[in-house]
Amino acid sequence: MKAILFHEHGGPEVLQYAEFDTPMPAPGEVQIQIKAAALNRLDLWVRDGWPGIKLEYPHITGADGAGIVTALGDGVTGFAIGARVVINGTLSCGLCEDCTTGHDNLCRVRGGVLGEHRRGTLAEFISLPAHNFLKLPDGFPFEDAAAASLVLLTAWHSLMTRGGLKAGESVLVIGAGGGVNTASIQIAKQAGAKVYVVGSSDDKLDKAKALGADVLINRTKDDWGKAVFALTEKGGVDVVVDNVGQETWPTSLRSLKRGGRMLVVGNSSGYNIAMDSRQIFGKHLSIIGSTMGTRADFKTVMGLVFSGKLRAVIDQVMPLADAAKAETMLEKNEVFGKLVLTP
Ligand code: ZN
Repeated sequence: MKAILFHEHGGPEVLQYAEFDTPMPAPGEVQIQIKAAALNRLDLWVRDGWPGIKLEYPHITGADGAGIVTALGDGVTGFAIGARVVINGTLSCGLCEDCTTGHDNLCRVRGGVLGEHRRGTLAEFISLPAHNFLKLPDGFPFEDAAAASLVLLTAWHSLMTRGGLKAGESVLVIGAGGGVNTASIQIAKQAGAKVYVVGSSDDKLDKAKALGADVLINRTKDDWGKAVFALTEKGGVDVVVDNVGQETWPTSLRSLKRGGRMLVVGNSSGYNIAMDSRQIFGKHLSIIGSTMGTRADFKTVMGLVFSGKLRAVIDQVMPLADAAKAETMLEKNEVFGKLVLTP
């Protein structure tokens, strides 16, 4: 099969569109032909590498994908050859205490994220445990399913399962254009929250408004910390969604009202954060981290996607062979929503 491979860490130039052995399904696994995959920041982080990261080379990133079942490993039931499916990129063993009590995202036996801890979806085929697949409704586009899976699962688990968001609360989303942010805006709006969005351009903010954002703050025109303070009558917001990290955390913490929660699933500007810890105890703040979500969350959120209540925003669909070009666009923040790659 063809896949996007790399043998060493580096920029987009290390990516090769090349031949790799088609992965055959082990017992309990399902092999699919991938019809659509989607990029995430994770692909860039894994490709760039960090101290201590261990990969089996050549590595293939990609946590999102959808396609058609092409082979079944021994013991697999519930899937037929030719079935249309979407991948849940949360890896788990399916057998340990965490997995059997609904906390499979915390699995310590074989937990992790597809494309980081195991070769991912930027390829023509993949084999994964059957519990990583969910059937697609007839006619539901592979591109929309692949684009939705990671960002909507991540945002749902963070806002609803971990964050306990309730109707009537206020949510501030830091950044308008990222995949998780476009998902968070929709989920928060649907939960009945008032949604504030800080963005870098009027164009991105207009698109955020179309997704349900109530209050738009352009950080290139206003000091966004002061703007939040003024717009909330000096009270701050109940919840901040901050996946920017280093650059924004101090202001995000100041934007929370007493007893507020900060939700964190990533750090696009860096992880080495300096903050004033008096904010945390003085204002009774909670910082709630998570990554990916549970199988139950996946079923819930994809059900809302299949029924049209939530959607992934797709910036562009490109051929898999153009992965290096697509990763460069993502790196430069030239996208609104998801880049989908089709083999
Ligand atoms: Zn497990």
